[in-house]
Amino acid sequence: MSGTESFPEIREAVRKLCAQFPGEYWREHDRERSYPKEFVAALTEAGFLSVLIPEAYGGSGLGLAAATAVLEEIHRSGCNGGACHAQMYTMGTILKHGSEAQKQTYLPKIASGELRLQAFGVTEPTAGTDTTRISTFARRDGDHYVITGQKLWISRAEHSDLMVLLCRTMAREDAAKPSDGMSVLIVDLREAVGAGLTIRPVRTMLNHATTELFFDGLRVPAANLVGEEGKGFRYILDGMNAERILIASECIGDGRFFVDRASKYATEREVFGRPIGQNQGVQFPIARAHVQVTAASLMVDKAAAMFDAGLPCGTEANMAKMLASEASWFAADTAIQTHGGFGFAEDYDIERKFRETRLYQVAPISTNLILSHVGTHVLGMPKSF
Ligand SMILES: Cc1cc2nc3c(=O)[nH]c(=O)nc-3n(C[C@H](O)[C@H](O)[C@H](O)COP(=O)(O)OP(=O)(O)OC[C@H]3O[C@@H](n4cnc5c(N)ncnc54)[C@H](O)[C@@H]3O)c2cc1C
Repeated sequence: MSGTESFPEIREAVRKLCAQFPGEYWREHDRERSYPKEFVAALTEAGFLSVLIPEAYGGSGLGLAAATAVLEEIHRSGCNGGACHAQMYTMGTILKHGSEAQKQTYLPKIASGELRLQAFGVTEPTAGTDTTRISTFARRDGDHYVITGQKLWISRAEHSDLMVLLCRTMAREDAAKPSDGMSVLIVDLREAVGAGLTIRPVRTMLNHATTELFFDGLRVPAANLVGEEGKGFRYILDGMNAERILIASECIGDGRFFVDRASKYATEREVFGRPIGQNQGVQFPIARAHVQVTAASLMVDKAAAMFDAGLPCGTEANMAKMLASEASWFAADTAIQTHGGFGFAEDYDIERKFRETRLYQVAPISTNLILSHVGTHVLGMPKSF
């Protein structure tokens, strides 16, 4: 560890906690596709999931840079924050755009872990990345909204008490702009399941507790509307910067995990009478992976610092996520290659982390969409959509 790393005490405490959850723990949950609830409970109890909640609402209010240190260390330790990272940032929509009553009702309980708000419902099967095409609709009926529609890839819905849901409250064709007419509702999943909401797990190549949601006349109190009706798209976009920066920090942690493992293995494994890492054909890709992870980590630090300073950071958050997810993927591929056949053996945890880190070039936003943002918004080239 370098002496210049940020938040050394937090990192040390996270590493200590993670040491209680070694590879076997993750392999078993991965095999069963079960939820690592003991790990989530330990992180909650230690207060690591409430670092973004201001002290006034019971959190530690340390900010995004501290949160990136937590997630990076979790991933560097071989653990996976995907089970609960959204508990850190999903509440940002309420913190930034909710009423004081909503903040008082939810934030202290989210900070203590009494309430889980770690489901974030945006993606739909037919709309895909084109969020303005979502069709899940919330129709006002007295002091309730009645929701009908479908969501896909909604992670942790079965392990969350609340969900922040984006839906249409006005049809796209009736709205002044395609991004108008969408609203954010807080859905209490404990009451909703079986009363108009059905959750179906979707099995994927990694253990991510993701699901499909079916809404069939679910009634949600109008008091659960966040901010103004019709302005929800903007609220969701706001929250996405934090999400992208935090996911990027997980990729940095993954990248460091792969570089740590690969360099150690390359030093110890002897073939042809010498360590394989003595061969530059093996050594250089690992060194290159380290260079790429280190560079990406600077971008993550910059984006987090801008976020914490309250500056617009959409471009930096996107660039950090893209660089970090590509660096971790290169490191993952290099670690597999370095380990030869053992890279494919479950017991080494390389193949599991390889599957896990691949997600982040697709979710929460895919690389092409980031390139399109940079190409058009930053460089002023013509839009393709
Ligand atoms: C495991 C997992 C967990 C997830 N968790 C959540 C969650 O909790 N909540 C949630 O709301 N969503 C979640 N998602 C959804 C995720 O954000 C989307 O999968 C992602 O944004 C990509 O959208 P899509 O799958 O609809 O792909 P599509 O939009 O169908 O795109 C498919 C491919 O085409 C490319 N593409 C599309 N249009 C263009 C274009 N105009 N130009 C160039 N390339 C283009 C995309 O970059 C992508 O590579 C999750 C997904 C997964 C796999």
